[in-house]
Amino acid sequence: MAVAKGNDSKNGVPLFKNKITKLDEELDKEVVFEFGGPVGVCAMMIGFPMLMLYFWVCLEHHQGALARPAVWTIEGVKEFFFDEYLQKILDGALPNILSVKIYMGFVAYSAICAYFLPGPVVEGFALPYLKGKKLKYLCNGLAFWYVTLVLSGVLHYYGIFDFTLIADQYGPIMFTAIIWGFVMTTLVYVISGVMGKHHRMSGYFFYDYFMGACLNPRVGRIDLKMWAETRVPWPVLFYISVSCALKQYQALGYVPAPAAFMVLAHFLYSNACQKGEECIVTSWDIFYEKDGFMLIFWNMAGVPFTYCMSSVYLMKYQLHNGVAISHSTPYTIALFAVLLVGYYIFDTGNSQKNRFRMEQNGSFMTRNAFPQLPWGHIKNPKYIKTSHGNLLLCDGWWGVVRKPHYTADLMMSISWGLITGFDSFLPYFYFCFFVCVLTHRVTRDFERCAKKYGKDWEEYCRRVPYVFFPYIF
Ligand code: NDP
Repeated sequence: MAVAKGNDSKNGVPLFKNKITKLDEELDKEVVFEFGGPVGVCAMMIGFPMLMLYFWVCLEHHQGALARPAVWTIEGVKEFFFDEYLQKILDGALPNILSVKIYMGFVAYSAICAYFLPGPVVEGFALPYLKGKKLKYLCNGLAFWYVTLVLSGVLHYYGIFDFTLIADQYGPIMFTAIIWGFVMTTLVYVISGVMGKHHRMSGYFFYDYFMGACLNPRVGRIDLKMWAETRVPWPVLFYISVSCALKQYQALGYVPAPAAFMVLAHFLYSNACQKGEECIVTSWDIFYEKDGFMLIFWNMAGVPFTYCMSSVYLMKYQLHNGVAISHSTPYTIALFAVLLVGYYIFDTGNSQKNRFRMEQNGSFMTRNAFPQLPWGHIKNPKYIKTSHGNLLLCDGWWGVVRKPHYTADLMMSISWGLITGFDSFLPYFYFCFFVCVLTHRVTRDFERCAKKYGKDWEEYCRRVPYVFFPYIF
C-alpha cells in the first residue's frame, strides 16, 4: 500500500521523528483505574443497556415522559420493573429476523466497503509498545460514505428497501445492536488474547473487558477500532434521523423544520467523520485507547441509539398527536445558527489540530472532500516546542481555549435538544451525558499531558489559560 507522504516543514512545522522516550513507554503501560474501577465498569456494562431499553419504553409508550413506578414502595418498583419495563421490552423490542437483517446487514456491508473501497493510506503515530513502529490506516471512509448515500437513495426510490422500516423497527434494531456490542467486544477480547496481543492489562477481568485488551485489533487491512469509530455509529445515526423524517413526510406530506434540522445535524456529523477520517488516525482514541466494551459497545449501540432520541421523539410526538412540533421562526433560525456555528468550530478546530499533528508526523495531506472550510489549516502556526520533542499548538482556536472542539461539540448537542422544545428530558440526555463524558475525558487527558510534558504543559496552560470558554472556564 502506498502511504500518503507529508510536506512537513513547508508550513513551518518541523517534522517530529517520533522517537519513543522512556516516559512514552511508561505512560503507555501505566494502568490507571477510571470509571470507579472494576465495580464501576460492571455497573456501567449492566446499566447502559438497561438505560437504553428504558428510554425506548419511555419513547414508545409514554410519549417521551420518564416512566416510573406508580408508588415508590418495593412492591411498586417490582411491579413497574416486571409489568411495565420488562414486559414492554419482551413484547416490542426483542430482536427479530428483520432487525437482525437490517442492522447486521449494514455492519457487514460497511466492513466489506472498508476492506475493498479505495482511499489514501495514512501512517499513525509511532507506537511505544511496537518500539516506535507506525501502523498504516486505509482511509476509504469518504468513498464508503458517498457510495452509501447514492445506494440508499436508489434502494429507497425504487422500493427495494423502505427506509421508514428503521423507525418502525427502532426497538428491535437497538436490541440487536446491544447484543452485537457484547458479541464483538468478546470476540476482540478472546481473539486478541489467543494471538498474544493483550496490552496494558490491569489483571481485573471485567475492567480489562471494559477498557479493552488490544490496542490495535485488525482484520487484514481493516483497523477495527477506526472502522467502529466512523463507519457504523454516525451513518446509522444519520439513517435513523432520515427514517424518522420520512415517517413524518408520509404522515404530513412535508418534513417539519425540527425533523429537517436533525437530519442536517446528523448528516454534518457523519460527513465530518468520513471526510476527515485521515485526521482521526492521530486522535487519542486511536493511538491510546484500547478496543474494549467502552469503545465497541458505545460505537455499535450507544452512539446511534441514544444520540438519536431527538429525532425519534419528534417522530413519536407527531404520530401520537397528529401534529408536528414547531417553533417560531426566530427560535428555529437561532437554533440553525447555533448548529452551524458549532459545526464550523468543531470542524475547523479538529482540522487545525489534527493537520498540525499530521504535519509533524509527516503524513499531512489535502483531500477533495466537501466541505473544506476556511481556517481549517493554519499557515505557519505558533506552537510550543516541548522537551519531549512534540509540539503543542497555540494558534487558531487552540490559542483561544484548550478544548475548542469540545465546546463546539457541546453547542451542537444542546441544539439537538432545544429543537424538540421543553416537554421531554430525553432529547437532552445526549447533552447531559456528553458534558460528563467530555469533562471526564478532559481530566484524564490533562493528567496524562501534565505527566508527559511537565513544565512545557504548565507553560502551555499559562499561554492558553481557559479550557472551554474564554474568561469563564
Ligand atoms: P483530542 O483531539 O482533544 O486529543 C487529545 C490529545 O491531543 C492529547 O492527549 C494530546 O496528545 C494532543 N493535544 C492536546 N492539546 C494539543 C495541542 N494544543 N497541540 C497539539 N496536540 C495537542 O481528543 P478527543 O479524541 O477526545 O476529541 C476529538 C474529537 O472527538 C472532539 O471533537 C470531541 O468532541 C469528539 N468526540 C466525540 C464524542 C462523541 O461521542 N460525540 C466522544 C469523544 C470525542 P499528545 O500526548 O500526543 O500530545
